[in-house]
Amino acid sequence: MNKYLFKVLSKLRNPNLWTVYKELKQNENLTKEQLLELQYNKLRDILIFSYNYSPYWKKIFDKHNIVITEDDPFGVLKKIPLTDKDTLISNNSEIHTQYKFNKTFKAKTSGTTGASLSFYRNELWDSYNRASIFRGYSWHSVNPSEFNFYFWGLNLSLKKRLIIWVQDLLQNRRRIFSYHKKDFESLLKHNPFLSYIEGYSSSIYELAKYAVANNKVSTFPNLKLVKGTSETILPHYKKMIKKAFGLGFANEYGSAEAGIIGFSCPHDNMHVNSESVIIEEIDGEAIVTNLNSKSFPILKYRQGDIVEIDFKANCPCGLPHPIIKSVKGRVGELIYGKNSTYPSLLLYNVFKNINEKYDMSISYQAIQKLKGQLLVKIDQNPTEFLNKIIDAEFKKYTKTDLIIEITRLKFKVKSSKFRDFVSEL
Ligand SMILES: [Zn+2]
Repeated sequence: MNKYLFKVLSKLRNPNLWTVYKELKQNENLTKEQLLELQYNKLRDILIFSYNYSPYWKKIFDKHNIVITEDDPFGVLKKIPLTDKDTLISNNSEIHTQYKFNKTFKAKTSGTTGASLSFYRNELWDSYNRASIFRGYSWHSVNPSEFNFYFWGLNLSLKKRLIIWVQDLLQNRRRIFSYHKKDFESLLKHNPFLSYIEGYSSSIYELAKYAVANNKVSTFPNLKLVKGTSETILPHYKKMIKKAFGLGFANEYGSAEAGIIGFSCPHDNMHVNSESVIIEEIDGEAIVTNLNSKSFPILKYRQGDIVEIDFKANCPCGLPHPIIKSVKGRVGELIYGKNSTYPSLLLYNVFKNINEKYDMSISYQAIQKLKGQLLVKIDQNPTEFLNKIIDAEFKKYTKTDLIIEITRLKFKVKSSKFRDFVSEL
């Protein structure tokens, strides 16, 4: 699609998009201190706004004797109690600010307990999300109007499908939502127009694996970016993407409610989107405050992931933004042994060790139905050798507390996020 037409159309939806984009591009030249100062001002602004217009936040600040001082927003932030998705769902209308915005968008996302969260996102907030993604693309010389593959689940009515078909046409992308051999075959034909691939990490990994196994690598001479979203990018995914497409596996990290939190640069470092979020690492967990969320203030939010952040890092790309070194999985999900419990991060570690030791790329999903037992599904034939090394790796952590059963994982059409651990206890 013509990039000027793209610009005009996107401006109709988001009047502030390109102004914000320009600002974000300029910020790339700031020093770390200047970037911190920018956050300081935006944080003070959102804290005052939340107190003045959100009945929920006013109540919380008053209850905890939090006084918003003009000169120490970071100090104030430390005193605010943590919130989570359940808080956002059960106090939904009170969190929404009583302020008339020119334009808002409705956003919806699912919750852990099955209840879903909906909220209104003001236009500027939405524009920051989009502009942040476009800035990320620019680091890889990608213009968002260029042709792309989009791996996303789709399970919709005919009417919605039609709307999405038009959107995809306008955005110059081919959406993929089934994973049969013939789909992969048709995708992997020589295509000089393909500029980027994005979507569920596990799906892109499947395509890469197919390409390598069937000797269909380097069919995209002008591919500039492969970007995974929404799911943890496992270490062996990166290796496979490199083999298939000759590129790193970039990560766009965030959530509907917390916004775009990070984006990988060409040096494979995921930079914090500091103009939009303040991310803190508290007991290993990512706590996010969104600096643009004026319609529905997201403060001290438990994003739910285990992360590692380097605030002082200097990346060769020159960006002043801190680096999120890893996103290791979800917080709080527990695997039950007969006597003890283990964080589900155990799975990540087990398969990472195997990958490093044996150079074996295994995709997996673990399901727990009974305490002390774990069903581990893997994407290849569970040979005697595989059984032995996987079992041995688990035993290093769990000794005899957990019995492992290994079966074959069938990759099938999916309409939702792939989860590496499912507890049915
Ligand atoms: Zn960088």
